[in-house]
Amino acid sequence: MPNVRWSHPYRSLPEERFWHSVVPTPLENPRWVDWNPSVSRLLGVDELATRADSLAAFAAGTPLPEWQPLAQVYSGHQFGQWAGQLGDGRGLYLGQTTYNGDCREWHLKGAGMTPYSRMGDGRAVLRSSIREYLVGDYMHALGVPTTRALALVESDTPVRRESWERGATLCRIAHSHLRIGHLEHFYYRNEHDALRTMLEFSINQLDSDLPEDSTRPLLFFERVLERSAALVAAWMAVGFVHGVMNTDNTALSGETLDYGPYGFISHWDPEFVINHTDHTGRYAYGQQPSVMYWNMARLAETLTPFVEIDDLKALLDGFPARYRSAYGAEMAARLAVDPSHPDLDAWVSDAQTLFGQAGRYYPELFYWALHDQEVFLSSMTPSDPLARDLHQRWQSMHESKRLETARERAPAWMLSHWLLDALITRVEQGETEWVSAIRGAIEQGISTQSDAASELGGHPPAPTEAFHLSCSS
Ligand code: AMP
Ligand code: MG
Repeated sequence: MPNVRWSHPYRSLPEERFWHSVVPTPLENPRWVDWNPSVSRLLGVDELATRADSLAAFAAGTPLPEWQPLAQVYSGHQFGQWAGQLGDGRGLYLGQTTYNGDCREWHLKGAGMTPYSRMGDGRAVLRSSIREYLVGDYMHALGVPTTRALALVESDTPVRRESWERGATLCRIAHSHLRIGHLEHFYYRNEHDALRTMLEFSINQLDSDLPEDSTRPLLFFERVLERSAALVAAWMAVGFVHGVMNTDNTALSGETLDYGPYGFISHWDPEFVINHTDHTGRYAYGQQPSVMYWNMARLAETLTPFVEIDDLKALLDGFPARYRSAYGAEMAARLAVDPSHPDLDAWVSDAQTLFGQAGRYYPELFYWALHDQEVFLSSMTPSDPLARDLHQRWQSMHESKRLETARERAPAWMLSHWLLDALITRVEQGETEWVSAIRGAIEQGISTQSDAASELGGHPPAPTEAFHLSCSS
């Protein structure tokens, strides 16, 4: 990998207080499930697909010579409550690469126990690893900032969850794995020197262009606010539900991080809850902008030793407006409409009503609008008066120069929970090739129909059927 430069900036932070070196614990009898060529091209590491030491390394055996595995400490608020110390309990930071000016962190999830495993086993199961592996690419194809995965390995290591499952590893790639919880960790311990060190490190990793003066922490906060507003706006636009928006799962980089019980809404329903352990609906689809706002307040708190509270508050108070503006821009771009079009808000609101009826699939909205034709799962008759009216209005609102880009990101098929369930069932029966088939379909472009996706996900369950995912992963 001659043009790829490896570095380990996290090791510049003090050991033990910020991280621990960890030797991975190998999986038994590992097999590749899939290698992601588009991520490997992005990283410039195609040769790793066939290198003799790769499989063992990606299966948490002997690390590649380029890797220096460590576990990071962080804390966080979970479901609105202070949860104290968490940290990398089952994932290891491997280092970062720079290739063609693009800088990415590598992380191996499911690599065994670490000093932060608490009661856990340090493992990830194949089922949830497949879900995380595929959704990274799907979200990327939708144009949503996200972590992605380079490789997925399965094994015979038994892992106990609700039942016995197979252990797996996932090599996750991110611009940054820094979470709000990295700063909360030192703030809640009143360790302001370490907090300052963590903050400087975060700024250097994410926003090194900011001026090196006293305005730096406040300007950094503004950058995180902007990225987070854009991220949650993108989720809301495409109908994505994260499911566990704890502060330890909220990245400072504005990337979607830590996929667990995620999903896409079916009909448009702000109260839709995907995570069955979320009894109060805290992380319901429609709550996500408010939760991100709440998370931003937790971040602001950690900056109070360094920034005037009034300055932080003034920026924080602007989050709802930033979100609204980001959401408008997202919807406009996805609908090929100028973001300042005066009829956009009313159109979106009527579209939510149209796709809010049972039997409709909100993620199909964009394909439906942009192609003016039957959609796939939604029972949408062309004669529906609201549908006809919306189409006519869209005709006069959209701009043809914006159409091509919008169409590329309008999915013709959904990475639905029922598609993933069917796929996981096939894989458990030994047909692992379905993972590559769906990953390949995403790479081909989600704006065209896919045979593999139709075969697995062509038949949604009855719309009245309740569906929830558990947190166990
Ligand atoms: P999550 O809900 O996956 O975001 O995880 C919350 C915290 O629990 C993080 O500190 C994880 O590292 C840790 N954790 C989750 N699952 C495990 C596991 N199987 N073994 C060890 N730690 C875990
Ligand atoms: Mg997490």
